[in-house]
Amino acid sequence: MIYLDNAATTQVRPEVRAAMDPFLDRDYGNPSSLHAAGRRARRALEDARETAAAVLGGDPKEIVFTSGATESNALAIAGVAEALRGRADHLVTTAIEHPSVLEAFARLEKQGWKVTRVPVDSAGLVDPARVAAAVTPKTALVSVMLVNNEVGSIQPLAAIRKAVPGVVIHSDAAQAIGKVPVDLRDADLVTFSAHKIHGPKGVGGLWIRKGTPLAAQLVGGGQEFEKRAGTENVAGAVGLAAALKLAGPGRMAELRERLRRALGAPADARAPHILNVAFEGVDGEAAILALDAAGICISSGSACASGSTKPSHVLTAMGLPADVVKSSVRFSLSMMTTDEDIDGALRIVPGVVERLRKISPVTR
Ligand code: PMP
Repeated sequence: MIYLDNAATTQVRPEVRAAMDPFLDRDYGNPSSLHAAGRRARRALEDARETAAAVLGGDPKEIVFTSGATESNALAIAGVAEALRGRADHLVTTAIEHPSVLEAFARLEKQGWKVTRVPVDSAGLVDPARVAAAVTPKTALVSVMLVNNEVGSIQPLAAIRKAVPGVVIHSDAAQAIGKVPVDLRDADLVTFSAHKIHGPKGVGGLWIRKGTPLAAQLVGGGQEFEKRAGTENVAGAVGLAAALKLAGPGRMAELRERLRRALGAPADARAPHILNVAFEGVDGEAAILALDAAGICISSGSACASGSTKPSHVLTAMGLPADVVKSSVRFSLSMMTTDEDIDGALRIVPGVVERLRKISPVTR
């Protein structure tokens, strides 16, 4: 199997698994317990928090562990809105966010908040001036993802920050961590997730700048600085920290470039692990299924959107014609992707695409 769907999820690295192991087995105490077993779990959890903070460049007290990027996004968006309710009535996001962000905003909209969704250009980029134009004196939050999960566009977060001084900014960096630099000065809340960087599924975090208004969304236990109740996923947090420590772009950019050239996709300035390609005259879903049968795992846009036949909201927002949207697929790499993976894909993909093109009902 050649796995090129690393934006959907990645394999747990052996080192990460080894780091987690003691906390699934011997050291299973609850970090809130007073006894020795609890204290060992607490120590591991706080070490993980320190590591995560050090990798991101923040303070350990600013890290809240969650069940993943979906929950981090929900906590950031609903949490800031709830904290500023009454003082603010407006929220800003973009047209190409992950569904966990888009739907968090849709829910707040139903509750009476005004929401502006800033469009993107044909490269999938947000213009900071448009964000500035959207902001009002009653804007509670601006949420802009750092790296888009379908096309890999990298938003100019520093420029957006400069364009809207004083406004609380959240960034979903689930696809950015370990791939492109993440500068905490550019935001007040930053979402990250372990399973995109060879950590386990079901654990992530939210970095929350000290002093940022935020109402807890899960209450009752007082854990995580009273921002996220529930017995902490100790093994998960340890795995997340280990994954963060090991995360880096490695040779992704070079391997992606080779794939891009060979598949005839245009040059771009996107994240090193995501390559969105349109196979002209070929149905994207058909290509995914045919490549799967040939042992190659890729996806259309986001895994969350696959299974549905809805055209990608990201490619549509970029202004691509419907036929191009329908013929687009996503290859995504990780730091464990090898030359052999790319060689293997390039031996198989062009032939499969050619075969589908001959039999495909999709015409321009
Ligand atoms: N945001 C982005 C940009 C993502 O790519 C994903 C994963 N598809 C998520 C959020 C959701 O992450 P998780 O699976 O950790 O909830």
